[in-house]
Amino acid sequence: MAKEKRIVVPGDFLGTSEEFTPGKGVYDEKGNIYASLTGAVNINDKRVVQVVPRVETPPTPDEGDIVVGRIEDLRDTLAVVSIACIKGKERREVAASTQGIIHISNIKSGYVTDLQHEFGYLDLVKAKVIDAKTLRLSTEGKDLGVIKAICSRCKGDLKRKGHVLTCERCKRVEVRKISEDYGKGLV
Ligand SMILES: [Zn+2]
Repeated sequence: MAKEKRIVVPGDFLGTSEEFTPGKGVYDEKGNIYASLTGAVNINDKRVVQVVPRVETPPTPDEGDIVVGRIEDLRDTLAVVSIACIKGKERREVAASTQGIIHISNIKSGYVTDLQHEFGYLDLVKAKVIDAKTLRLSTEGKDLGVIKAICSRCKGDLKRKGHVLTCERCKRVEVRKISEDYGKGLV
């Protein structure tokens, strides 16, 4: 078990009023104590439980981290990804407007001629940070790539069918650099 302090969000159950005395950042409801804010649980030697708000800065991606983000812009040789979360740090919000770049050479092994065949606008992608300073990302690898996409014609959900994606609504077929986790809702 990690020694790291337990991080809770509002509504998380912390214990009963028989076990603890409610302190700051918690509330008591019918003898059950819940967190009223996001922070670290602290229990002192008098059994007072409180939640200490987090004042630390949002996490920034490190090299080797797996991130999930949305394709915000597609250019000739690169895709711009708005990073939403970092794997393993999902409960902490990434600073707004954290953007990464996937260069055409980092999409998959092998030569990519047309970036538009690999990603679509607003696709959700899972990528690895290969340079934390410039936030360059890579989707090379079976588990990396697009994990959710919508039809470019009708905005319907695209379902995976083998190596392509098909729209259930209008039957359009689209291609992507698909992650093996496509549609599974996993990060
Ligand atoms: Zn469609």
